[in-house]
Amino acid sequence: MSEKRTEISDLGEFGLIDRLSKKVTIKNSSSLKGIGDDAAVIDAGDHVKVISTDLLMEGVHFDLSYAPLPHLGFKAVAVNVSDIAAMNAIPKQITVSIALSNRFSLEAVEALYEGIYAACDHYGVDLIGGDTTASRSGLAISITAIGEAKKEQISYRSGAKENDILCVTGDLGAALVGLQILEREKQVFLANPDMKPDLEKYTVVTGRQLRPDARMDIVHELRELGVVPTSMMDISDGLASEIFHICKASGVGATIYEDKLPIDKQTFDTAVELNLDPITCVLNGGEDYELLFTISQNDFAKLEKHPDIHFIGHITKAEEGKFLVTKSGTAVQIKAQGWKHF
Ligand code: ADP
Ligand code: MG
Repeated sequence: MSEKRTEISDLGEFGLIDRLSKKVTIKNSSSLKGIGDDAAVIDAGDHVKVISTDLLMEGVHFDLSYAPLPHLGFKAVAVNVSDIAAMNAIPKQITVSIALSNRFSLEAVEALYEGIYAACDHYGVDLIGGDTTASRSGLAISITAIGEAKKEQISYRSGAKENDILCVTGDLGAALVGLQILEREKQVFLANPDMKPDLEKYTVVTGRQLRPDARMDIVHELRELGVVPTSMMDISDGLASEIFHICKASGVGATIYEDKLPIDKQTFDTAVELNLDPITCVLNGGEDYELLFTISQNDFAKLEKHPDIHFIGHITKAEEGKFLVTKSGTAVQIKAQGWKHF
């Protein structure tokens, strides 16, 4: 009798999480939201706490041949803060755990922490603990972020309603295009170490890959304007994949419009230079860390003039599916080819 063996790659990351989470039952009434959103939500009396954790592995999530350690430290905090922002909450504390191989010196760890301290100042969070251990395979960084909000301020992935307006912040696709440039220049350098990488033209896209900024500014502005998104998440795996998550969690469909999708000029030009389709970069590029959210039509007037919020489409009934209307007016089904780790 042979033992059954299923490859993780057959399930994929989300398939695996679905499978593991099916066996979990919530025992404590203070666990308001468990697995399945950008962060868990815990009842804390007059407010709620939100908690999110992320693990970054050398060779999978970052490459130290082009990622400077201070940038990496900043990014490790920013991606967690982004998940707190995605709940419409304010980050307050982080813990930082690191595993280090003997390749790393004190100076290297201090360079990493320079970025972590800078991010703590930038987002107003306190570093309150963590763990340190040895590693046999390079560097791993795991950060947990804790945030706060009033219960009624929390935006879940599951709250989108038919006719709500779909919004995204900033612009999309830059981090993926930046990664392609960094990889290209790395290959050029490996082939000929005398060649100096030519990165000056690409600082916007490489900056977005190496040192992304979580959109806490938007969370604060939404509060000032008195808008609570009906649903929200951050864009870490690509817009298309995140639209699937919101639609699945909310039991709705969505239509978005190609001509409304925000792309930066340098992202567009660099994508073309790399023979990539800019719209594919916008839909499927990972690591943008912008916010995707829905608002009720009643709130549209409050956000209409915001320079960095783009209205890309609307929510439909689930049976209407998920469609992108191209510039020529054809509706094409959206495919969720997100960032795949497995
Ligand atoms: P995000 O991209 O927003 O960080 P993920 O896709 O990583 O979110 O995770 C989706 C949900 O699954 C979250 O609620 C997360 O806490 C949960 N999750 C991820 N990995 C595990 C795991 N190994 N065990 C339990 N829950 C997990
Ligand atoms: Mg997220």
